[in-house]
Amino acid sequence: MDEKFDCIIVGAGVAGLAAAMTLARNNMKFLLIEKGEFPGSKNVSGGVLWGSDLAKLVPNYWEEDAGWDRFINHRRLTFMDDQSTFSVDFKSSHFNQTPYTGVVVLRSKFDRWLAEKVEEAIAESDYAMDSFIATNILVEEVLMEDGKAVGIRTGEEKFYADSVIIAEGVNNLLTRQVGLQDSYVPADHMLTGIKEIIRFDQNVLEDRFQLNGRSGMSNEFVGFATDGVEGGGFLYTNKDTLSLGLVLGLKDLREKGKKPYDILNTFKKHPVISDMIQGGEVVEYSAHIVSSGDKRVMPKKLHTHGLVVCGEAANLLMNAGKAIQGMDYAMRSGILAAETIVENKKTDDFSESAMKKYQNRLDDSYVMKDINNFQDAVHLLHDPVMTQKIPNLICDFGRNFFSIKNEPTKKAREMMSDSIKEHASYWELLKLGVKGGKAL
Ligand SMILES: Cc1cc2nc3c(=O)[nH]c(=O)nc-3n(C[C@H](O)[C@H](O)[C@H](O)COP(=O)(O)OP(=O)(O)OC[C@H]3O[C@@H](n4cnc5c(N)ncnc54)[C@H](O)[C@@H]3O)c2cc1C
Repeated sequence: MDEKFDCIIVGAGVAGLAAAMTLARNNMKFLLIEKGEFPGSKNVSGGVLWGSDLAKLVPNYWEEDAGWDRFINHRRLTFMDDQSTFSVDFKSSHFNQTPYTGVVVLRSKFDRWLAEKVEEAIAESDYAMDSFIATNILVEEVLMEDGKAVGIRTGEEKFYADSVIIAEGVNNLLTRQVGLQDSYVPADHMLTGIKEIIRFDQNVLEDRFQLNGRSGMSNEFVGFATDGVEGGGFLYTNKDTLSLGLVLGLKDLREKGKKPYDILNTFKKHPVISDMIQGGEVVEYSAHIVSSGDKRVMPKKLHTHGLVVCGEAANLLMNAGKAIQGMDYAMRSGILAAETIVENKKTDDFSESAMKKYQNRLDDSYVMKDINNFQDAVHLLHDPVMTQKIPNLICDFGRNFFSIKNEPTKKAREMMSDSIKEHASYWELLKLGVKGGKAL
């Protein structure tokens, strides 16, 4: 292949596929390279793709059976101690309407399906015979000439393009190679995500979680779930399986000498969780690094001459307690990266300042606005008072509040005061309240 492409995209995850779809729809000639056997084969995700950007890429996707498993109309945030759970639970038929607020996806299925949609868009474009998705190929190097990205190298082969989109995910070796990310990323800003897929008879799953048709539930957990380690737990209902997993701070794991799989096993033995997963069969186990959403770990810049970085390669992710948002950020940033390339192609200008338009678009989007606005909340979620003491305190209060004894009952505020004395100090709560007020 000697000809030059308008763009080469590295990585067929959510970001790369969103970029590819946008390029195909705009009649650009591109090469998308994925190291996995097929798109999605290397990807792990607990699985809710939030927001409505998917409908921009595949209009009316909800009319198709493929790709996604369930839409979310039931959300739950659970505080847990070793015996009890106390949940904030929200279910609404508002969320039954399209475009959905979130859909559960299993990445090996979803990425493959989205790649098929990209192939369809390529077939309808002016470059039906000249744009490609190539799998099973590892990009080893971004080719730079005089500070400008001109293509990529895979083994002995070199491919050239006007522009390169790096969408390689969190393990961003190429982003480091071109000097946009420091070569050493501190473990404080990284977590490990582990997940099991647990299979059920579909009727059992639907009865147990009150699912109707394709409706689904997402449940996040704080407290005992992580056995004293920074992080949280999650449970999502797929079609006939559950995704159950944890995200755990790497530094904290190392300092406390704990192993992710032991923590997951303890989580599964919790009386409330074991009731939820009873009778299920573990059919898959996976682990993957995940960004903490701390802005300090983002690359210094997301562009250089001829190149932009998007998705989790740029550490675009947020987890401020309400949800993990990585896939929707990847999708939007992939779209914005491709739109920038399309615009620059019109003037054949891929200079540093032309590529900076991507950064400007991203800054104007909800992605960077939310990352900037909710940094305090991200830090708060890593505060041990928030992740350990508060769940214990809330569960202790819940146990007292919901116990009916044949003896004089204390007022709720007295019960709360007892629980605070037992689990935290007023000073810690005051500090948390001030931080929380600022964060939210
Ligand atoms: C346990 C866990 C749970 C999560 N839960 C959620 C959730 O519920 N909701 C959510 O929105 N996000 C979630 N995330 C985060 C989300 O999965 C990521 O943010 C998202 O996948 C990032 O998309 P991406 O396209 O940037 O990168 P990826 O999805 O990682 O894709 C990168 C692709 O690039 C390929 N690649 C890498 N290097 C090369 C190379 N040199 N050559 C060729 N190909 C290459 C990889 O094989 C991969 O296919 C979770 C993550 C984990 C680990």
